[in-house]
Amino acid sequence: MSGGVDPERRVGRCDRRAPKNAGADGDEAERMRSALQRHIDKLREANAQLVIAALKAQVVTEEVQRAKDALGHLAHHDFLTGLPNRPLLMERMAQAIGMAQRQHSRMAVLFIDLDRFKIINDSLGHAVGDLLLQAVGQRLVAAIRASDTASRLGGDEFVVLLAEVANERSASELADKLCRALAEPFDLDGQTAHIGGTIGISMYPDDGEQAEALIRNADVAMYHGKHSGRNRCYFFRPEMNLRALERQRVEADLHRALARGDFELYYQPRVNLASGAIAGAEALLRWTHPEHGAVAPSRFIPVAEECGLIVPIGHWVLREACMQVARWKADGLDPGVIAVNISALEFRDDGFTGRLRAALADSGLSPQCLELEITEGVLMDDAGASAAILAELKEIGVLLAIDDFGTGYSSLSYLNRFPIDVLKIDQSFVHGISAAPGDGVIVGAVIAMGGSLGHKVVAEGVERQSQLDFLRERHCDEGQGYLFSLPLAADAFAALLARRAGP
Ligand code: C2E
Ligand code: MG
Ligand code: MG
Repeated sequence: MSGGVDPERRVGRCDRRAPKNAGADGDEAERMRSALQRHIDKLREANAQLVIAALKAQVVTEEVQRAKDALGHLAHHDFLTGLPNRPLLMERMAQAIGMAQRQHSRMAVLFIDLDRFKIINDSLGHAVGDLLLQAVGQRLVAAIRASDTASRLGGDEFVVLLAEVANERSASELADKLCRALAEPFDLDGQTAHIGGTIGISMYPDDGEQAEALIRNADVAMYHGKHSGRNRCYFFRPEMNLRALERQRVEADLHRALARGDFELYYQPRVNLASGAIAGAEALLRWTHPEHGAVAPSRFIPVAEECGLIVPIGHWVLREACMQVARWKADGLDPGVIAVNISALEFRDDGFTGRLRAALADSGLSPQCLELEITEGVLMDDAGASAAILAELKEIGVLLAIDDFGTGYSSLSYLNRFPIDVLKIDQSFVHGISAAPGDGVIVGAVIAMGGSLGHKVVAEGVERQSQLDFLRERHCDEGQGYLFSLPLAADAFAALLARRAGP
């Protein structure tokens, strides 16, 4: 059993060695345990980090998604009102057109332009203007169905898409509802604003089979409406496009007329009703088209105003009138006060007063011989700015007349506030004077009011002796109209002056 192991010895050896070996093994085990523990701790820590990282990644992913969503929303919505913008509207229209095609149904596009928005924006400030646009957006959304889309194209232009609409009548009913909603007063941060909306309507498929054409034609109808009476809806009609084309042609012709000198001024005498003497004249623009002949101011002045050409045309009128008066005076004639019509755009143009000073200086005309005719609407569109311009005009020394008085603005308080010299009673009131009692009430009242405010009163459009008698009886200062004379070319007016001045 030599090779055998003595269990005792083994045990003994074991026993002897046991404390030493056990200690070493214990240390080893301890080391291993603590190493293991360290690994475990590290693993735990790494795991925790991983979890945290995963959570963070989750948060980041969500944030990225939210940012993406927000960007996507921004890309498809108007930042101010939160309504769908043009790209989203186009998308929805494309879908709606596809659906209408399949179902052989109709849809309507409503192009809405706010009336008086610019006035509110200019007078109450842009912050209030923004509030107004937001409130308009809310009213539109409240008035339509969930399946319809109210969108903002920019500025004060909104488009409503009625994806399913039976006929024109239901489209116009909804449009009328929107008009009524927009005509209700808006409370904006304590300030009340009254606006309204003009709506143009195009129908699919009659007025266009593509989104662009439908929006364009609804816009054309709205534009037509702006000139026909606001706060109403107008259906697109193909002839409206013809009118737009005609406008473009007139605009191009006006450019040429200005360059070639096809304009001329006519002068319509103003008569002192007490003495019968010529007190002055109103300069009236005449345009002879090379092919169409004489074009009425009512046909070309609104176009010139819309495209801004009225500013250079008005400048020509002002200079020509001043120069003509200077020529008459040089010939020994006394034309009295010459009145020149001034459009809103000219009146507000930055260079206007400078050009006026230059025209007076170059012609040597005394400012008291020149009267500027403006309408009530021009003054009231931005009363604050108007007051400053009027003050400058007064400083220059020209006279100021309110043209077409009584047709523009309901408030009379401005008469006291602005430095006005002359009221020209609109022709419609003068035409209303007839033999029947009560017919001339308005004219009589204006004459009395003008007199007590110290304004000279001129009656326009005097055509009949009975009207003249009435005006004389009420002590109206001056009259102008076919009864006295038609507007005359410069030579004819000079001849009239010479005849009157003669023995
Ligand atoms: P307005 O300033 O009120 O001019 C008076 C208009 O009434 C003129 O029309 C004149 O010819 C017309 N008229 C004169 N007497 C009578 C009458 O007894 N009966 C009737 N029914 N009408 C009469 P016109 O020349 O066609 O001018 C129309 C408008 O065009 C003017 O109205 C004015 O607003 C504008 N206008 C004319 N010339 C100019 C201009 O040089 N610049 C600007 N901005 N506007 C002008
Ligand atoms: Mg006038
Ligand atoms: Mg007038």
